[in-house]
Amino acid sequence: MVARIMAFLGEHWLHPDPVNYALAYDVVCHPDCPRAREVARLTQDGVRLSGGDIVRLGGSARSAAPIALVTSPAQAGPVPSAPATPAAPAPVASPPDQRDDALAARALAQVAGFSDTLHAIHSETNHFGRDLAATAEAIRVGGADAGVERISHLTAAMIERVHQAESRLEQAKHETAELRAALEEARTSAQTDPLTELPNRRAFDDAFTALSPDTPVAVAICDIDFFKRVNDAFGHAVGDRVLKLVAQLLEREVGCTVARYGGEEFALLFESRNVGEVRSRIEAARDAIGARRLRDRDTDRPIGTINFSAGVALGQASDTLIPLMERADRALYAAKQAGRGRTMVAP
Ligand code: GH3
Ligand code: MG
Ligand code: MG
Repeated sequence: MVARIMAFLGEHWLHPDPVNYALAYDVVCHPDCPRAREVARLTQDGVRLSGGDIVRLGGSARSAAPIALVTSPAQAGPVPSAPATPAAPAPVASPPDQRDDALAARALAQVAGFSDTLHAIHSETNHFGRDLAATAEAIRVGGADAGVERISHLTAAMIERVHQAESRLEQAKHETAELRAALEEARTSAQTDPLTELPNRRAFDDAFTALSPDTPVAVAICDIDFFKRVNDAFGHAVGDRVLKLVAQLLEREVGCTVARYGGEEFALLFESRNVGEVRSRIEAARDAIGARRLRDRDTDRPIGTINFSAGVALGQASDTLIPLMERADRALYAAKQAGRGRTMVAP
């Protein structure tokens, strides 16, 4: 049944939301109901339902293109693991679409499973009601004695059904908890940079959007100076370790949202427009990073000190983030031009 419902949704390019699911459910499970008959009439020549048809039938607006839907719960496989961190210069990991699809498929299959379970329980309850009515009739006609055996039989059967329903619901509860955990994990990993474990660019954008519009803000971009030299001299793995350390110290020192924004760039989001305060927090991070005497673990060769340049732009949360970041980026560029290892604030 689930497969047929999914096939119907897919065939007519319907979003698998509850409204459309209910329509598909009627078509598949109650072919004689008025809605299902109307669908049969409209589609009798193999015609796909139009957007207008769907709305008239009580469905919700159609997507612009066919939607890939699971056709059976069996296709909803386990969550594939996230792709490995890219080996070289380093886009911040993009959300793993395949995993999202698998999770969506699992969620759909589960919703369908719930519906089946509820349907089964409902029809068992109906049977019980019918059997009970028949027993009452037998007692009325044949007297109480005639009914005792029937009642005891019926009760035993009902207890068995209740047990079955309980164990189905228990199973459904268990599956829901698992799915919720998987969704939560996917949400977290779609917002996390796998190398540094800092929030990624998407999470940074979300953190900005979540601020109330009148919040004063300062955004900063910190870009490690001459980082390519570290990679060239010590290899990418050492470069990665340096990135992790910088991420850690930035997060510890600046006391605001820090995200890995690009390869060796970090974005900071302050809920403040106080330039002095913003500057001093960035300088605290510069001092903490500069105080580390880094060495290559394998050869014990000194790596030297790490510094960064920073560009800051002031605004407020009602601003559009992209132009704000562009201003910070121009200030960063000015800091690089002016000799690196410094913070510049956009005019
Ligand atoms: P500048 O002071 O002008 O910023 O010089 P730079 O060398 O830091 O800048 P450039 O843009 O020339 O090089 C950035 C380097 O950052 C190149 C790239 O290999 C390195 N990088 C980017 N992402 C990663 C990463 O995830 N791991 C490692 N190890 N290196 C990375
Ligand atoms: Mg850079
Ligand atoms: Mg750099």
